[in-house]
Amino acid sequence: MTCPNCKNQMRVEGNEYVCSYCGTRVNKPQQSNNILSDKYQWYAFIFPLLGFILYFKWRNTDPAKAKTVLKISLVSLIGGLIIAVIGIVVAYVLKINGYDVLDNSLMINFITYKF
Ligand SMILES: [Zn+2]
Repeated sequence: MTCPNCKNQMRVEGNEYVCSYCGTRVNKPQQSNNILSDKYQWYAFIFPLLGFILYFKWRNTDPAKAKTVLKISLVSLIGGLIIAVIGIVVAYVLKINGYDVLDNSLMINFITYKF
C-alpha cells in the first residue's frame, strides 16, 4: 500500500495503514468481513433458519457476507426438502408394495431376526 499523500510505502498498524513519513492513516479494507467464517457457514448449513436471521442482520452492514450466508441457508433448506420428499416417496412406494415403514413390529422383527 502506498501513501495517498506522499506515495511512500505504508506499514500496517492494527486495522490501519500508517505512513512512516507523513503520518497519514488509512483504514485497512476489511476483507475479512467479506469472508464468512467456517463456523457461521456450518451454522447456516445445519440451521438454515439461523442463516436467514444472520442474512437480515448483515444485509445492510455486510452485503457480501449476508449473500453467502443466504446462499448456504437456501442450499441447506432446499437440500433438506429434497431429501424429505425422497423419503416420503420411498416410504410411499414401500407401503404400496406391502412394507409399512411406520409399522413398529416390522422394525422390531427386522432388528431381532435379521441381525
Ligand atoms: Zn505519507
